[in-house]
Amino acid sequence: MWVYTKKVFMSFSNLGLSKPILKAIEDKGYTTPSPIQKQAIPIILSKKDVLAGAQTGTGKTAGFTLPLLELLMSKKSSKGKPYVRALILTPTRELAAQVEQSVDDYGKYLPIKSTVIFGGVGINPQKAALRKGVDIVVATPGRLLDHVGQKTIDLSRVDFLILDEADRMLDMGFIHDIKKVLAILPKHRQNLLFSATFSSEIKKLADGLLDSPTLIEVARRNTSSEQVDQAVHFVNKDLKRDLLTHLITEGNWKQVLVFTRTKHGANRLSDHLDKSGIRSAAIHGNKSQGARTKALSDFKAGSVRVLVATDIAARGIDIEQLPHVVNFELPNISEDYVHRIGRTGRAGREGIASSLVCGEEIEYLEGIEKLIKKEIEKVDIEGFTSAQKKVPDPSRKQGGQKRGSRGSSNQGNRNRNSGGKRNESSGNSNKRTNNPDGRRNKPSSNSSNRNSQQRPKSGGRRGPSSSDR
Ligand code: AMP
Repeated sequence: MWVYTKKVFMSFSNLGLSKPILKAIEDKGYTTPSPIQKQAIPIILSKKDVLAGAQTGTGKTAGFTLPLLELLMSKKSSKGKPYVRALILTPTRELAAQVEQSVDDYGKYLPIKSTVIFGGVGINPQKAALRKGVDIVVATPGRLLDHVGQKTIDLSRVDFLILDEADRMLDMGFIHDIKKVLAILPKHRQNLLFSATFSSEIKKLADGLLDSPTLIEVARRNTSSEQVDQAVHFVNKDLKRDLLTHLITEGNWKQVLVFTRTKHGANRLSDHLDKSGIRSAAIHGNKSQGARTKALSDFKAGSVRVLVATDIAARGIDIEQLPHVVNFELPNISEDYVHRIGRTGRAGREGIASSLVCGEEIEYLEGIEKLIKKEIEKVDIEGFTSAQKKVPDPSRKQGGQKRGSRGSSNQGNRNRNSGGKRNESSGNSNKRTNNPDGRRNKPSSNSSNRNSQQRPKSGGRRGPSSSDR
């Protein structure tokens, strides 16, 4: 449920949505529109273009899907085969599948047809669905253009274009594909652009695409979710795997999404967790779509406790009440941190995001803290974490930026600064100690005694010097 500090009650029925849609919302169990929904729905219904700054987890999908369905219904003709009137572009297959599921759920009492189009699976069933006729297409750009090239989709009567997670699409190098799609769409249409972060590239895209848009922002720009309790654990690189295992087992974490920077790193970590008796699955761009879907559904069902993912693969993962996100490695692109931790603390619930940070990553940490404009709390886990000295990341090219190694075959090549300024501090201010269940204690000399049963038996907290050797 969404939690509000101000007691301003508004229900979905005040937003101008019709009965079949309200009934579908009720079936989902939503009682109160989220802030993005309250703002976006009336504006979209008034047929304006929208530029929305909303992170994942804010309810943005319903924020555009509900009014879209309403508008499509108001102009629906009962005669003839449906044709593509709305196009929703997403950066990843998972997100496309999820958005289409939402369209299906919210439109279940409406005669609106939709389909999803993405790569990595056979094209023929998609062609068959398009031939039958659909009102809404949710697609990733590459496969959509394949259909355009093969003339199996007609986009000449599209009235609505929605770019979901537009920042990620640009990050993945889809700008040229997006431009190609734009070139074949009719000039007059309603455009909605959703993005978690606003770079100058996004602003440029928005300027070219949107007509006098209404700006909606539910979270501060480039901010990290307020509902997420964030902590950094400084740790030696070679102790990270043990620390992760410790956090999961001692804290009895049931559902954990862990981020690594590379596909191989994800595989290796998943193997290690399995060997330690923690069921896990890896999800990244080298896995087949079938394997990705299975890993995600096993994780959602609880038969897999840990999902190890790269940034790209994790986009679009929506698991209600996902309680824990761990950055096994910090991303070298600061914005990715915001996206990653947005996987927890969803739908008004609280989440915990833990980052395991070694000396090579301190520069990335500084960039992240600069971006989110706050210092992330540093929490010691006895026996594991210790101050780290800032050292250059060896995978960074000499004198240049490291390539954004994102773990997906279809990503763009981007060089981006983590945004941090160099200094030689060990970065261990603002420290706390941690309870194994993931809740954090303020620093206290007693805290380790209180939790002694669940803490490692041997080895106390080490001083900064031992960790650097
Ligand atoms: P999104 O930001 O669109 O990915 O949505 C995040 C999660 O919030 C999804 O699991 C939705 O099912 C859920 N959700 C969306 N709107 C509401 C609402 N008004 N009340 C409760 N949950 C919602």
